Amino acid sequence: MEEIPTIGRCHLCKQTFGFTPAQVMTVMMDPETNLPLGMTISGTFREPTPEATARAVEVHVCPGCVGRVEQLKEFMDRPAPPFGTWSRGHPRP
Ligand SMILES: [Zn+2]
Repeated sequence: MEEIPTIGRCHLCKQTFGFTPAQVMTVMMDPETNLPLGMTISGTFREPTPEATARAVEVHVCPGCVGRVEQLKEFMDRPAPPFGTWSRGHPRP
């Protein structure tokens, strides 16, 4: 059976794009800054605070924006130890 693509809107660039629900890429967004969790307004990356992690919401992003986020993550991972807070886990009590 063929998977039916869904049309959604990218949270980052606001463009509509087609995706397969089972394969869509998602990013944790901080609604307070409207940026991906851990990303600062200047485009640099830092470890998100527990408060930001707790309020973060999972949003759909298009492949292009996923690439940009992944690039930043890789850039940060190079000098630093593995970045463990990017997971989609629920905030701990
Ligand atoms: Zn996008």
